[in-house]
Amino acid sequence: MPKPVVAIVGRPNVGKSTLFNRIVGGRVAIVEDQPGVTRDRLYQTAEWAGRTFTLVDTGGLDLAEAGDIPGRVRRQVALAIDEADAVLFLVDGRTGLTPTDQEVAALLRRTRKPVLLVVNKIENFQRAGEWTEFYRLGLGEPIPVSAAQGMNTGDLLDRLVAVLPPAAEDEEEPDTLRIAVIGRPNVGKSSLVNALLGEERVIVSEIPGTTRDAIDTYFTLNGRRYLLVDTAGIRRKSRIDLPTEKYSVIRSFKAVDRCQVALVVLDAVEGVTDQDKRIAGYAHEQGKASVLVVNKWDLVEKDDRTAARFTEAIRRELAFMTYAPVVFISALTGRRLPRVMELVNLVAEQQCLRVNTADLNALIREAVMHNPPPANKNRRLKILYATQGGVKPPTFVLFVNDPELVHFSYLRYLENQLREAYGFEGTPIRFILRRRE
Ligand code: GDP
Ligand code: GDP
Repeated sequence: MPKPVVAIVGRPNVGKSTLFNRIVGGRVAIVEDQPGVTRDRLYQTAEWAGRTFTLVDTGGLDLAEAGDIPGRVRRQVALAIDEADAVLFLVDGRTGLTPTDQEVAALLRRTRKPVLLVVNKIENFQRAGEWTEFYRLGLGEPIPVSAAQGMNTGDLLDRLVAVLPPAAEDEEEPDTLRIAVIGRPNVGKSSLVNALLGEERVIVSEIPGTTRDAIDTYFTLNGRRYLLVDTAGIRRKSRIDLPTEKYSVIRSFKAVDRCQVALVVLDAVEGVTDQDKRIAGYAHEQGKASVLVVNKWDLVEKDDRTAARFTEAIRRELAFMTYAPVVFISALTGRRLPRVMELVNLVAEQQCLRVNTADLNALIREAVMHNPPPANKNRRLKILYATQGGVKPPTFVLFVNDPELVHFSYLRYLENQLREAYGFEGTPIRFILRRRE
């Protein structure tokens, strides 16, 4: 299910990251302390009143970039207008209206996307004067909040979810495998997509009709149906030449939300960058199966150790995703291209593996016997029972005497045992802990 994207825009220091943290902060995580994942506070899934959405702090995106403040804020706004489904325009109730606020408002008045004007740093809600001047921005009623103290943020979220586009209907088409091709600009995504679709065995079907089809590509290979999600931006290259590095990340995230398997494209010449980590990390966190596709292999001078060295570097940089198979390709020459779809099929299958309860409990008993959980303040973890709660990704429910006693490294150990026994190649594995005395 695609999640709507909500962008927070506004001048520096108005409180964007404070509001961001306030909104996503209270989120309960299922064992999410995974070392190695680039803990990116700039994009997070948030939930309110049963609606989930991806919240983006566009200010944080721009941190590393040069330029004057109005220019940077303008870029955030352009990004938000392009990629978000709703915009939270944050202003500072203490400093009052500024010329940059006016400029931003002028840009936002032109979009048809919902915009909420939020006046931050209001601590006294009796004194309406502090925020009424922002009516002048022509963006409707200003919503006063204190992000720092969490005052009125619930009201803000109520209004936000009310203007989000309706949840898209479930896309499950049981016979169609949904693939997203993701990665930084220029790693070769469009070359890869065009090369895949250009293969002789591939039959592309253009299905006219709904708008969604316009951005997706269906094809058949060996009698199996596939869908490449969001190929619009990929197959025909975007005309607008914006600071694409940042934009591509959000586009990638949206594609990941809709896919079952992510093809994470890396550039063999440039190696793994922070941006790659972010993109791959998102696929991992969302429980998608992944294949790491190292493109432009034709450009690399090789000896018999080159691929092994590159793989080592990937394992180190993307340490949270050592389960993902790596394939070295050239979209240009077609090298190893057929292998890509073989791996897609493999990881999709692995993502749906089920372990029956008796075998699972036998495996866990054995694992605990070989390597008992360490005692913590004289208390020892007991795993009483386990069952597989679901697939896509494989999720295991552990009934334990006290979830607090479960250390991340012990889950990693159990995960490794499961992988050794069953594979689960290309897919993350999740654990859910339940207390049972
Ligand atoms: P950003 O640059 O827009 O992301 O702003 P920050 O979230 O970093 O906040 C800038 C400053 O404003 C920080 O010192 C915050 O502590 C402060 N701040 C944020 N929200 C509030 C608020 O609701 N009330 C007050 N008084 N200060 C706030
Ligand atoms: P995208 O932005 O990720 O979609 O990347 P493109 O597919 O547009 O590729 C960026 C550039 O890299 C283009 O100039 C491509 O011709 C080139 N390129 C893509 N794949 C390969 C490859 O396998 N080998 C070489 N040598 N160049 C490639």
